[in-house]
Amino acid sequence: DRPVAPDADEHERRLEAALRPRHLDEFVGQQRVRGQLELMLSSARLRERAADHVLLSGPPGLGKTTLAMIVAAEMGAPLRVSSGPAIQHAGDLAAILSSLTEGEVLFLDEIHRMSRPAEEMLYMAMEDFRVDVVVGKGAGATSIPLELPPFTLVGATTRAGLLPGPLRDRFGFTGHLDFYAPQELELVLRRSSALLDVELSGAGYAQIASRSRGTPRIANRLLRRVRDWALVKGIDRVDARAADDALSMYDVDERGFDRLDRAVLEALCRTFGGGPVGLSTLAAAVGEETETIETVAEPFLLREGMIGRTPRGRVATAAAWEHLGLTPPDV
Ligand code: ATP
Repeated sequence: DRPVAPDADEHERRLEAALRPRHLDEFVGQQRVRGQLELMLSSARLRERAADHVLLSGPPGLGKTTLAMIVAAEMGAPLRVSSGPAIQHAGDLAAILSSLTEGEVLFLDEIHRMSRPAEEMLYMAMEDFRVDVVVGKGAGATSIPLELPPFTLVGATTRAGLLPGPLRDRFGFTGHLDFYAPQELELVLRRSSALLDVELSGAGYAQIASRSRGTPRIANRLLRRVRDWALVKGIDRVDARAADDALSMYDVDERGFDRLDRAVLEALCRTFGGGPVGLSTLAAAVGEETETIETVAEPFLLREGMIGRTPRGRVATAAAWEHLGLTPPDV
């Protein structure tokens, strides 16, 4: 009487969960953040106190959720998960906060998207472990103070710059996650391949790592596709050539740029002659939200030296023209 097979999305989510490192020493790369976090958590454990609040920022898929889970695991504390968009009213947040147990870790993803009243309630909760719950409406409304047990808030955001200063200042620790180097992604892939039971040569790993956009989530996803491909083709050990053949079926090029990255570069060079062009115009040209361009495509293209930011907008670099096989206009 097993339930029906999980749908593809659910299956992928479960696989992703299985591949998540559970402890700090399994977490690859991000040495600085990892070292600082380790120190902070060790100190909290020695003092037998809840760890200080932690803010993690950086593009999607670099390990913010994973680190939040690790904070809870390292502290031996339960983890509660919610997100900014899910907390639209201060009451939603009050309900979560008032049910926390001592030392519990509360993970708020996309914390920059919380409503203003909820944000204000969070200030007090973070600083004084107290909230004022308003009961009733209008003249009859009363505010009831509620003591909270000490807890640790782990906030994640793709855009630390959007957080109001008073909220940012209440985090005792702020860590920015950056894209991973190919060698670090190889380590992520080696760990995952053992869990997924797929064998690759050194060059096979390197091939996937270099196409993973500096992002562990993408590395793991591509590895699963390579695993499928090897399984279907009956290949026991995936070398560089086989990895290349498998990956050419997906929308990542040899530099790791995906469809969105390429659309941005194409629009910048072909439509706007290399720029400068404003973010919203660029987003409209590729049919995406400005936030997606700014938080997903742009950080990687900037890091890869494909685009530049000027006060008048985004510009294509010589590398972008070259990557697209185009000649920049004479200026
Ligand atoms: P989002 O903001 O989109 O939710 P995120 O930054 O929270 O992304 P995670 O969900 O933590 O990213 O990570 C995505 C996947 O990448 C996880 O399943 C995990 O297996 C893997 N991963 C992330 N960082 C690491 C790491 N440092 N070492 C090993 N695996 C990692």
